[in-house]
Amino acid sequence: MKNIKYFYIISFFCFLMINCGEKMQVEIADMVLKNGKIITVDKTNPEAEAVAIKGDKIIAVGTNKQIDKYVDIQATKIIDLEGRLAVPGFNDAHIHFQGFGKSLMQVDLNGVTTLEEMQRRVKEKVDEVDDGVWIYGRGWDHEILPGKKWPTKKILDAVASNNPVVLQRVDGHSALANSLVLKISGITGDTPDPHAGKIVKDEISGEPTGILKETAAGLIKNPVISEEEIYNDRKKAVRLALKEAAKFGVTSIHNLTGDFEIFYELLKDGELTLRVYACAPITKNPEKLKSYKEWQERFTDNNNMIKFGCLKAFIDGTLGSGTAAFFKPFDDDPTTSGLPTMTQEEINELVNIVDNEGFQIGIHAIGNKGNNMILNAYQEAIRNNGRRDARHRIEHVSVLIPEDISRFRELGVIASVQPSFVSSDKGFVEKRIGKERARLTYVWNTMLKAGARIAFGTDCPVENMNPMEGLYSAVTRKFRNDTSDTSWFSNERLSMEKAVELYTLGSAYASFEEDIKGSIEKGKLADIVVLSQDLFEIPVDKIMDTKVVYTILGGKIIYSSIAGTGIE
Ligand SMILES: [Zn+2]
Repeated sequence: MKNIKYFYIISFFCFLMINCGEKMQVEIADMVLKNGKIITVDKTNPEAEAVAIKGDKIIAVGTNKQIDKYVDIQATKIIDLEGRLAVPGFNDAHIHFQGFGKSLMQVDLNGVTTLEEMQRRVKEKVDEVDDGVWIYGRGWDHEILPGKKWPTKKILDAVASNNPVVLQRVDGHSALANSLVLKISGITGDTPDPHAGKIVKDEISGEPTGILKETAAGLIKNPVISEEEIYNDRKKAVRLALKEAAKFGVTSIHNLTGDFEIFYELLKDGELTLRVYACAPITKNPEKLKSYKEWQERFTDNNNMIKFGCLKAFIDGTLGSGTAAFFKPFDDDPTTSGLPTMTQEEINELVNIVDNEGFQIGIHAIGNKGNNMILNAYQEAIRNNGRRDARHRIEHVSVLIPEDISRFRELGVIASVQPSFVSSDKGFVEKRIGKERARLTYVWNTMLKAGARIAFGTDCPVENMNPMEGLYSAVTRKFRNDTSDTSWFSNERLSMEKAVELYTLGSAYASFEEDIKGSIEKGKLADIVVLSQDLFEIPVDKIMDTKVVYTILGGKIIYSSIAGTGIE
């Protein structure tokens, strides 16, 4: 009798299971990616062949055969990856998005070696815009122009007589203006040089050549434009940057410089093609903190597209300009150790207040003293306010003292770093701070071993937005296009697996979103990038040639390099 009872109970459960099984089979995917090499960044299921997507989420990850059952020939869009590599969408944990877009709107003169090329690039812009519109550019360098001669207004006048043109030198300390700018600004042969500036004049005619050095560039009377025009300009810049991001497979960003309203408007208009974690400047002002809280609540229900999170501060400057804060002086300038922007007491107080309000904090720190001061401040906040899942961050974390490496794990502090800095900085860091401190620069492998959490970003437009550059730098620690084997402190190189993880799941963790994105996993958002080459198989020198084939955001293809898909 007892056995029969069990028989019925077991039969009942079997019946349930079969039914559930059948139910799963009727869940039909909107899109299926198959025949791929899918690196999931999910430790429980690291590699797969196929993914099923429904709505904006991933519903299954597995072999082609396992995923077949989610396909309905009529209803499912099938993408054959033809063996290509797919990874989670890249998440840039430190970017200045609108600034990058702005830079795209200007004429790029980096690397220009002839006056004809300079003219060609300006002319291209002139043809694009209406008469009277101001044209800005940047990046020229007379050191690489013929005869190392400074360019003059004449070359601009020849191609732009009806548009005011201002082109910044690569260092931003001199500008080349055309005749129209000089006329509008009232700069003539009789205009005296301003304090700490120089209007370069022709030796024979005495006329301004168009070169305005240092403060003389401040004499340019920029057009008066309305608030509305400024706003529209910024919106245009964000739109341009969105296009680039899709092309690079970037599906999420942590935007360090606000532009909240613009992102929100683009979202409402259906134009926002990446997820934004927005940061705002830090403050102790209670009213301002209250308004930040309101923002936080306002941006909760938007399909995980916009989230307001961290408050940003600075403790020091940069290595390049010699303003990063160190314990000991620079090797190439013993008169200075850099300058912290706050005292330890000041930063402690600020962090304490903001931490107590429950915000995440991200502070820019480059020098070993700057980093030490921030870690001290975070430690002090834990002592005063108690330990919580605060995930405070340090932005850049360039140079550390050995004692501070383990403190990232102990204090739960995230290192938000930019791998391409290695390729950009390795040429001058040793000269600037000496070998001992250089050895403790960008020590990500050592930090990971000590249990630190790391997120990858670019600081774009300081560096290129293309994630391939960062991945290349992280796994090689070489200059770009360097075919030699000269890796900079090669023990700090990361594996490609780790580098991809930090660029996806690592960044998702830094915005408290590791549960919804950062890996290709059932239940997570379908943000996936398909690449032209297998990053895990190709020689490292080929990494930067890798292109994006598909960028998928929330189950929608937002970029494809394949002709005929209609999305490019
Ligand atoms: Zn930055």
